[in-house]
Amino acid sequence: MAISRREALALSGLALASSTLSANPESKSKKESNSDSRTNYKAPLHETKNPRVVVVGGGWSGLSVAKYTKIFAPSADVILVEQKNQFISCPVSNLWLVDKVDIEYLTHDYLQAARNNNYIYFQATAIDLDKENQILKTSNGDIAYDYLVFAPGIDYDYSRWTNDIAFENRLRHEYPAGFMPGSEHITLKNKIKNFKGGNFILTVPAGNYRCLPAPYERACVIADYFKQKKLNAKVILLDANNSITIKEQGFKSAFDELYADYLEYVPAAKIAEIDLDNKVVYTEFEEFEFEDAAFYPQVRGAKILERVGLAKDAKNKLEAHINQLTYEAIDAKNVYITGDSRPMGFSKSGNTSNIEGKYVASHIAQKINKSAPVKWRTPITSCFSAVSIEPERAIYIYTEYAYDKNIVFSFANTISSEDWKKDGAVNAESIYDWADALYSDMFDA
Ligand SMILES: Cc1cc2nc3c(=O)[nH]c(=O)nc-3n(C[C@H](O)[C@H](O)[C@H](O)COP(=O)(O)OP(=O)(O)OC[C@H]3O[C@@H](n4cnc5c(N)ncnc54)[C@H](O)[C@@H]3O)c2cc1C
Repeated sequence: MAISRREALALSGLALASSTLSANPESKSKKESNSDSRTNYKAPLHETKNPRVVVVGGGWSGLSVAKYTKIFAPSADVILVEQKNQFISCPVSNLWLVDKVDIEYLTHDYLQAARNNNYIYFQATAIDLDKENQILKTSNGDIAYDYLVFAPGIDYDYSRWTNDIAFENRLRHEYPAGFMPGSEHITLKNKIKNFKGGNFILTVPAGNYRCLPAPYERACVIADYFKQKKLNAKVILLDANNSITIKEQGFKSAFDELYADYLEYVPAAKIAEIDLDNKVVYTEFEEFEFEDAAFYPQVRGAKILERVGLAKDAKNKLEAHINQLTYEAIDAKNVYITGDSRPMGFSKSGNTSNIEGKYVASHIAQKINKSAPVKWRTPITSCFSAVSIEPERAIYIYTEYAYDKNIVFSFANTISSEDWKKDGAVNAESIYDWADALYSDMFDA
């Protein structure tokens, strides 16, 4: 009878050293770790002799890492750890808010993605990391890894507005931002649907927030919705920035020409105080009464990165502390971080995160396959934004990135199509072509 190397070593009582056998937590010779071992039981996952790649976060980047790691390195045993039980897309959700698509269009199946692409979807929340022993701790048990990828996205940072946690919770519950999928979006949709008239406040945060054009797109489609319903209503868009941060010409002409009576755009509107009881927002120079609102605060890297000591507190953003060319964590071996929690000033977009996910997958595959080093490739931001819903019209931007000798990144090869009167209908159709292609890329075989 043949005996495996694992069995031989186990019988001899030797600790396993090979990286190809290291994916079983019990098989590791445990080193001292400063990690707070919350679970200390093994996740219910199969044993493997193959290199195990664990991906935290089944969003646009994590799904791409999981699928493409398996394609580029078929010997890898890939586990996708995601806390949610279904995927809901943020891209195209602004059109769902105003009934242009149904929820099924945005919702996708993690089990199907895993079946199609030969990896395991493990529903759990990552809660801690034992870097020394290469063990991820989750709400559903510990998982040993050879390579670990964090793709956990963003969290909100309300600290510029308040340090009172009770007040923050009122903002989160009563006026959610709607920039992370799920209940926030449902609350917002119901607010829009039930709005009877008056001021509806939206905000644009400062800094590199998630999806630069989305707050302007949202303002346009809600204004159009109120216009179609002939409501005596106005969207007030309070922008903490001095001007529209992206596709400025296209959005500005839409605001002026389509929604003069339905949308008021206020640049440099840094919020000084929000009075929820009297429903008034104070900026430095003005005050705005409101009937309803969705307050979008600043964003930061997802909290799990801070929890496991892989975030860098650059200007309070707590984004990933990584080698910005390879996405490898500075403070942990064999760990990568990708997607919206990156510190580079790329647009925090699904398209960018998807391309980055493939790039990170190629780095991990290179290590597993021991192949030639991977050259840096630019992420790509390719983004359509609706400016009206009746008729459907949209504007578009495409950009690549370049970096200088100090590894400072800038936009490169940017193309935009912002003349919505001329190209708006074609761009609007392309929203769905783009989304179909990306959903297929993440979920289909
Ligand atoms: C309204 C709106 C419109 C947008 N429109 C566009 C668009 O048109 N085009 C475009 O390209 N982009 C668009 N975006 C941006 C896009 O949604 C994000 O950039 C993209 O989702 C980022 O991908 P990600 O993988 O980094 O993060 P996410 O997609 O947020 O995925 C992160 C995942 O990690 C999971 N997670 C977090 N912490 C843990 C943990 N501890 N354990 C387990 N799981 C965890 C989360 O549940 C989540 O599923 C839009 C965003 C919004 C809000």
